[in-house]
Amino acid sequence: MLPADHMASRGDDDHPHEECGVIGAFDVADAAAVTALGLHALQHRGQEATGIVTYDGARFHQHRGLGLVGDNFSDPQVIARLPGRVAIGHNRYATTGETVLRNVQPLYADFEFGGLAVGHNGNLTNATSLRRQLVRRGCLFQSTTDSEVFVHLIAISLYSTVVDRLIDALKQVTGAYSLVALTDEALIGVRDPLGVRPLVLGRLGGGWLFASETCALDIVGAEFVRDVEPGEIVVVTEGGVRSIRPFGRQLPRFCIFEHIYFARPDSVVEGRPVYAVRKRIGAELARENGVPADVVVPVPDSGVPAAIGYAEEAGLPFELGIIRNHYVGRTFIEPTDQIRHLGVKLKHSANRALLAGRRVVLVDDSIVRGTTSRKIVEMVRAAGAAEVHMRISSPPTTHSCYYGIDTPERDKLLAARHDVAEMARIIGADSLAFISLDGLYRAVAGIARDPRAPRFCDACFTGDYPIALTDYERPAENRQLSLLAERD
Ligand code: AMP
Repeated sequence: MLPADHMASRGDDDHPHEECGVIGAFDVADAAAVTALGLHALQHRGQEATGIVTYDGARFHQHRGLGLVGDNFSDPQVIARLPGRVAIGHNRYATTGETVLRNVQPLYADFEFGGLAVGHNGNLTNATSLRRQLVRRGCLFQSTTDSEVFVHLIAISLYSTVVDRLIDALKQVTGAYSLVALTDEALIGVRDPLGVRPLVLGRLGGGWLFASETCALDIVGAEFVRDVEPGEIVVVTEGGVRSIRPFGRQLPRFCIFEHIYFARPDSVVEGRPVYAVRKRIGAELARENGVPADVVVPVPDSGVPAAIGYAEEAGLPFELGIIRNHYVGRTFIEPTDQIRHLGVKLKHSANRALLAGRRVVLVDDSIVRGTTSRKIVEMVRAAGAAEVHMRISSPPTTHSCYYGIDTPERDKLLAARHDVAEMARIIGADSLAFISLDGLYRAVAGIARDPRAPRFCDACFTGDYPIALTDYERPAENRQLSLLAERD
């Protein structure tokens, strides 16, 4: 769900962020309340805006708002205005850019066949090109999100059923998408042919749920049934559940960064408990890059499971030497480098008693711009640490993601411009090491990375982009379009 003017803004610190969480409910009592709870569990996937669309057997009802789920759906009167046993919901990632209500999902439109609502997690890589063609054909776009192309492609399709129109639309888009869609007859869940983003199917009583992650099933006591498979369309109607595979089978390329950072640690992703995977990554990191030390300290919260795994493997004590203040948003929300520095200080503080005079191994999940690491190392030194060794539970992030995880433009990525020794100097650590790509594959899936057929999308570490980057290869044309888009 990337704004179409992404090309123009990418590279700015305040460029849009596009991670998202989706959920859908079919034949579930109080579907809106269940959907709101699921969205709350998926809050980590998007904090900018949130929305729910329901269908009560006769009419669609919708509510969208900027901010957190709790800010928008904790009022019982709001939920009461969303009647029905069928619903979809969407969380959008925080951005300081295009924070406008018309971009908040689920998108809804009336078609000749009736109403349709869509929620999208991921990012399309040919949305700008498609949008240009659609605008030329007379389509009137209401938002600047890439997801709206789905709506127009469905509207102009010559097929008669909704599902056939959806398949027609999906065959024209490239990129990463996990979708939930709602019609007056069906709840539909879709994953792109490579299955880059997650989507699971669950059962609640006699009804069905789709959700980005299993943590959204757990919060409402739903039972996990299975992952929606890469390239699969699952259609849930009164008649039951139907699976369609219009794309033929391809080798899946699930996003490995979901395992490292993005998914919630209590979720089970692709059959793998995220927490256990992160501990295994930490253990592998210790085996590959051990260093004499007195204590292992995570950069909270995302570094915690890997630090536990590291400490266990290294036989070192694990201590919460850095405390995180949970009332400050993620550092990425801050717009400028200057404010981001301030954000990190607001967010983390050192627990001096655990650090003074000790050789500290700091564990974090990733270095993106390097701002967090630099501040944390400085803070740990100021607390009196004798040595600071930084260990990172991902390989160096050398490439931007175009498939739905926010990363800055390549020239802002520390690892794109510097080798590990230089990075260590820049962040001020006595040593710095990253898990290797093979070590990561071993820890996540127990396999080696086959360079001819990698099991995951690891483009942010390798530059091996498995899906065509159509829009990003023709920036000039697209920038012109975004000027048009900005004028509307
Ligand atoms: P940086 O300060 O730019 O190096 O950012 C690194 C920190 O941001 C790490 O502590 C990560 O946990 C976190 N991080 C990494 N990727 C993302 C992302 N896509 N969105 C938000 N935070 C992230």
